[in-house]
Formats: sequence, C-alpha cells, structure tokens
Amino acid sequence: MFEYAPAPESVRPEIREHYGLFIDGKFADAEDGATFKSVNPSNEEVLFTVAEAGEADVETAVAAARRAHETVWGPMSGTERGKYLFRIARLLQERAREFAVAESIDNGKPIKETRDFDVPTAAQHFFYHAGWADKLEYAGLGADPRPLGVIGQVIPWNFPLLMLAWKIAPALACGNTVVLKPAETTPLTALMFAELCAEADLPPGVVNILPGAGATGAALVDSPVDKVAFTGSTAVGRAIAKAVAGSKKKLTLELGGKAANIVYDDAPIDQAVEGIVNGIFFNQGHVCCAGSRLLVQESIAEDVLERLKDRVATLRVGDPLDKNTDVGAVNSAEQLERIKSLTEAGSDEGAESWQPACELPERGFWFRPTVFTGVQQSMRIAREEIFGPVLSVLTFRTPDEAIAKANNTPYGLSAGVWTEQGSKILWTAERLRAGVVWANTFNQFDAASPFGGLKESGYGREGGRQGLEAYLDV
Ligand code: NDP
Repeated sequence: MFEYAPAPESVRPEIREHYGLFIDGKFADAEDGATFKSVNPSNEEVLFTVAEAGEADVETAVAAARRAHETVWGPMSGTERGKYLFRIARLLQERAREFAVAESIDNGKPIKETRDFDVPTAAQHFFYHAGWADKLEYAGLGADPRPLGVIGQVIPWNFPLLMLAWKIAPALACGNTVVLKPAETTPLTALMFAELCAEADLPPGVVNILPGAGATGAALVDSPVDKVAFTGSTAVGRAIAKAVAGSKKKLTLELGGKAANIVYDDAPIDQAVEGIVNGIFFNQGHVCCAGSRLLVQESIAEDVLERLKDRVATLRVGDPLDKNTDVGAVNSAEQLERIKSLTEAGSDEGAESWQPACELPERGFWFRPTVFTGVQQSMRIAREEIFGPVLSVLTFRTPDEAIAKANNTPYGLSAGVWTEQGSKILWTAERLRAGVVWANTFNQFDAASPFGGLKESGYGREGGRQGLEAYLDV
C-alpha cells in the first residue's frame, strides 16, 4: 500500500468559548443557567460550553416561533420566503469550508465527507426547497395548501447539519416556523447555522435552536407545537409517538434500520465491493440506512469476502481533519461502548470477527472497521442496529432466500441490490420491504428524492414533493 503523507486541513473555524440558546433571533443563556460541554471525539478535548434549554426556555422559544408564524412568516408570500431560503443556501455555500471543518471537529467524521457530502447536500436542500416556496399549490397537495404553524424538531448526532437542513428547509418553505433541538454531542453546526440565519436577516423567531439533552427534546415534544419531526432511535421514536398520541400534533418519525445489501452472483464484483464499503463504513457506520447486513450469494461469497477484506485493509482510520482519512472517530464514549458490547455479543454468539491491522490514535473514541462472517439470522449483530463500522455477512443460495432474509427484520428503511440484470433489480426491489432501494449503488441522496421508512423505521417522508406534505395542512 502507498504511504500517504499527512494532509491536514488548514481552515480553522472560529468556535466561541460559549454558546447560548438561539431564541427569537438572539443568543441567550438558559433561564436556570444550566450549561453543558461539547467534546471533540477524536481527542476528548472540550471544545466549548453551551446553554442547556429547560422547560421554561422551550416555552419561550415556542411562543417566539408562534408570534413569528402569525405575524411575519405565515402571512409572507411564498416568493418572499423563497428569497430567504435562497439566501441561506448561498451563505451556507460561502461558508462551506468553515462548516465542514466545524462538523468534523464536533462530530468526528472525516473532513472528506463533511466537505464533499454533508455541507453541499445541506445547501442543496435549501436551494431545492427555496424553489418550492412559491409553487406549493402545484405540488399536487391541493389548491391552497396551508402551513401547519410551529414545528418542534429533534435531530440526532450522525449528520448534524444535514439533518437540520432536512428538517428546517421544507418546514420554512411551507410557511412554518421551527424550534429545533440538536443532539447533545453535536450542537456546533446548528449554532453556527443560527448565526447564519441572523446574517441572512431571517425575521426573529422563525428559526429557534435549543441545545440540550433528551429532557429538552421531551419538553419540546410536550410543548404546544403543531407538529413534531424526529430522527433518531426507534426506542425514543416510540416514546415520542406515545407522548403525542391523542393530541392534534402531527408526527413524522425517521428511525433506525438494519439494511440488507444483496449481492447476486452476476454482480460486477469490484463495483459491489466499493458499494459494500461505502454502505457500511461511510460516516463510521453511524448511518440509519447503512448497509449493515451483507447478503452475498453463496457461489461468490469467498471471492467477494477476499476482495472486501483487501479493500477494507486500505481504509485510513484516524484524524478526521486529515484529507486522506476514510474512517474518523466514533461520536461519543457511549456510542463506542454500544458498538463494543454488540460486537462482543457477536463473537460470543459464534460469529467470526475480522479487522484490518490499523493503528488507532491513543486518545479519543475509535473502533476498527469490522467484518463478521458466519453470521446467523438469530444473532444480535444480524438483528440490532449497531450504528458503527461493523458489517455482518450472511449468505443465500436463491433470490427467494435473499428476499426472505432481507425482509426478516423489524426495520424497513433501505436496501441495496447488485446484479447485472435490470429485470432482477426490479424483481428484487418489488419484494423488499424498505422505503429506499438502491440498485448497483448505495447511500445516494438528493433533495428531490423522498426518504423514509416502513415498519419500525418510522413513517413520513423527507425530501421531494412527498416531503412537503408533512409540513402542510392538506
Ligand atoms: P436518540 O434517539 O436518543 O437521539 C436522537 C435525538 O433525540 C437526540 O437529539 C436526543 O437527545 C433526543 N432525545 C433523547 N431522548 C428523547 C426523548 N425522550 N424525547 C425527545 N427527544 C429525545 O439516539 P442516541 O443518540 O441515544 O443513539 C442511540 C442509538 O440510536 C444509536 O446507537 C443508534 O443505534 C440509534 N440512532 C439512530 C439514528 C437514526 O438516524 N436512525 C440516529 C441516532 C441514533 P440527546 O442527544 O441529548 O440524547
């Protein structure tokens, strides 16, 4: 293997020592003065302190959002709203590098991914939805679709800025105002986004950002918002569904997954191997739609595994701010523990673990890319979302067996299929119980394409014309 010289990122964003809550266009500390720290997962250094929103702050933010909705944003024409969204999209592009570096520092993911995927895709969501703002009556959702009002949004730590964009862009385009809670471990880019809203002269109260932990999210769900939009674990999604049941609040849930990536014996193997690697090692495997279960046809399994291991051995694990890095740090000590305990369960249950011999940094939260073979359907590593760089490999003999195994999961978010035959792709996709099916590719996202799950992966769609429906009274 070639030895690469380090290629450190030179841009350093200005990170404040302390951030407040962003309510009604201004930063302010929490009413009870509570704060918490955000840590760099690649070296465990404290990055900044941030105010932690309590119930009183949630109340203030929701009231500000309500005022902004009734007096400014709701009555504003779609054309005018679109201008603000375009402005936000352009500002994000202008500050793209700064956001990319900040996201890598706060989350642990490689700069290559934040620079080439997270930030450009976030900007794309604002551009795309800016275009819809004055065309909502042509979205096929009725002649006069109205905004819902105030939206409470809770997002996870795996794609902090991108999940924010998925939530905020359609909500604003449809004339709603928002109160958003970023994940406790990754509030930085949401707070920088708050600064950017002020820079874009967005009217106060249209976007409110409330950093905090699970209790802040729960308070937001219980507050008098008109809709809750959540992305995160199935367990918390279930609790939220219970909390809003019986109220008039609308709800969309984007939850976990355990996607099957099916490789048939006629697949282009080298391409499939790239797709397998991208499917599970992109973003350290912290991806709800990750291809965490490889289903490979038995006749080619040995060949695929050999090439897969050769490829995985070339992945560079380490400093997220090095432009050569492929796999960065795990986002938190808790997540690292969860990955460790599930992989231990895999070995205890009899699966065989393989890891490349890569060196890991001494400080920070790290986990080597891992491939489990000899995996049985009943094992925890085949059933539970590990949310880490861990692939479980199963085999199948016939297409029917592949479908049966792929669908044997409580989840239904995504799936992949690799074959040279178009008819086999269609046959397979028709039978897979998953919201998204990728063919001869994996992890492709576009603002125009709806994304969402079936079964315990949640309900509602984000993106595309379909995603607008979740933010309109139709
Ligand atoms: P959570 O579902 O707990 O977190 C998602 C968001 O919900 C965070 O902002 C979190 O706040 C917030 N939250 C937590 N509890 C509540 C509550 N009772 N009411 C409202 N909001 C709440 O996921 P975790 O971060 O704890 O990760 C645990 C596991 O979940 C992972 O290992 C992974 O398997 C899965 N996961 C799946 C994701 C997906 O996209 N499918 C995304 C993230 C996790 P806080 O950050 O403070 O906890």
